[in-house]
Amino acid sequence: MADFPYTDRYLVNRALPEHGRPRAEILAELAEMAQREDAAWETGKCSGTMYCGDHDHYDFLNDAFGLFSHVNTLQRDLCPSATKFEGEILAMALDLFHADAVTDGDPVGLLTTGGTGSILHAMLAYREYGAQHRGITRPNVVKPESAHPAFSKACHLLGIELRIAPINFETMQVDVEAVERLMDEHTVCLIGSASNYGWGTIDPISELGQLAIKFGCGLHVDGCLGGFILPFGEELGYDIAPFDFRVEGVTSISADTHKYGYALKGTSTLLFRDRAYRNAQYFFQPDWSGGKYHSPGIEGSRSGGMLAATWAAMVSLGRQGYLGYAKAIFETADAMKQAVASHEELRILGNPTFLFSFTSDVFDIYHVNDFLRKRGWRFNGQQYPNAIHMAVTRPQTQPGVAEAFASDLAEAVRYGIEHAGEKATSSAIYGGIDGGPNDEAAEFINAIMGSMLDTQMSLPPQLEA
Ligand SMILES: *Cc1c(COP(=O)(O)O)cnc(C)c1O
Repeated sequence: MADFPYTDRYLVNRALPEHGRPRAEILAELAEMAQREDAAWETGKCSGTMYCGDHDHYDFLNDAFGLFSHVNTLQRDLCPSATKFEGEILAMALDLFHADAVTDGDPVGLLTTGGTGSILHAMLAYREYGAQHRGITRPNVVKPESAHPAFSKACHLLGIELRIAPINFETMQVDVEAVERLMDEHTVCLIGSASNYGWGTIDPISELGQLAIKFGCGLHVDGCLGGFILPFGEELGYDIAPFDFRVEGVTSISADTHKYGYALKGTSTLLFRDRAYRNAQYFFQPDWSGGKYHSPGIEGSRSGGMLAATWAAMVSLGRQGYLGYAKAIFETADAMKQAVASHEELRILGNPTFLFSFTSDVFDIYHVNDFLRKRGWRFNGQQYPNAIHMAVTRPQTQPGVAEAFASDLAEAVRYGIEHAGEKATSSAIYGGIDGGPNDEAAEFINAIMGSMLDTQMSLPPQLEA
C-alpha cells in the first residue's frame, strides 16, 4: 500500500483530462477496481464496515438511489418524496427505540450524514439548549474514555469542554461514580455507548440516566454502532439491558442506518426525547438578500438519493428481516467467542454481544493479529490494553467462516506462544492502516491523512512496503 494506488494500471489524473473519456471505458475501469476491492471482504474475514454484504441488496439500493440522486432535498416543493422518506425513516427509528414510552416529552428526530454527523448535531443541540434554557455559557460534556472520538471532535469544533471519565476494567463499562465527580452545574450532557466501538460493551445507561436527572442535564446514548442490532438481540432473548427511551433520563440516541441499518454509506439517525433539543440547534437567516434561508441541520444541500435508499433499505427488510439478520449475527458471534474462550491464553474483554474484543496476558495479542492477517483476516486493533476486535456482520454468517476462524485462531495462538517476548508488527489504528509508535503520532498521522488525499504524496518510511 506504499504507493499511490493503481499507478501501474491506470493513468493518474492531476488535471482535468482535456477531452472526456467514453463512458463504457470509465465504467469498465471502475468495475475492475470495485471487484478487486470487494474480494477482500467477501470472504467474511473482515471486521465491521460491510454490514450487509449482499450485492443484490446493494443493487436494489443503488436503483432507489439513482431515481433521486440528482435531487437537492432543500427544495422540498420539487421533492415532496424527500419529506415522506425522511419523516418515515425517523418515525421507524423512533418506534424501534420505544419513543412511545415517553410521557415527559415530544420525541422527534434528525437525519444526518453519518455517526459523526449525528454526534456533532447532538452536541450542538445540548450546547444551545444549555445556553437557551439554563444560561450556560461555558458548557462541558462528560464522556467515557471508550466513547467514540467523534465526541472529542465535536467538542473541539463547538468549543465545549470535554471531561473524560475512566473505565472500570472489570466490566469494561464507564465508572459511574467517576462520571458524577466530573459533573457540575455547567454540564450540558453525559454520554453512554450502546455499544462502544472498542469492546462492544454497553455502559450502565440507567445509572447514567439517574445522574442526568439529578443534575438536570441531558444523556446522549451513542447507538451509532449498536442501535439497529441490539433491539433485535433483546427480542431474541440476549442479555441486553435497555438503553433507549424506555430508560428515564435518556434524552437522545444516535443510530447509524449506514451500519446495521443496512443502508448505503451516508446516513444516520439522531433521535431526541423532546422537540426542544432538536429545535435548539436549528439555524436560520431570514434577513439574507439571497432569500430567507433555513436548513434543519449543519449540511446545506443533500442528495435525495440517500434518503430514498435508506428508506428503501428499511422497508424492504422490515422487522422480520432485521430480526433474521440479527439472529444469524448473534449466533455467529457466539460461535466465534466460544473459539476465543477455548484458549486459556486469551481473554475476552467485558461481556460483549455482537462485537467482541480479546487480549492475552501471555503474549502480545498483535502476534495473533499478525498471524491471522496472513490468513486473510482483518481484525481491528485497540490499545490500553492492546486487544483486537471483530464486529460480526453478515459476511461472517456465511457457512464455514466461524469454523475457519476457530482453526486459524488455534494456529495463531501457537504462533503467539512461540513469539512471546518478541515485537509484533501490527498495531492499533482505527480503519486498518498500520500505525507507528505513538511518540511520532502527529507527523505520522499527518502523513497518513495526506496519503488519503494527495496524488503525489510520498509516504513515511514506516509505510513503505
Ligand atoms: C462508527 C461509530 C461512530 C461514528 O460513526 P461514523 O459513521 O464513522 O461517523 C460513532 N460511535 C460508534 C460507537 C461507532 O461505532
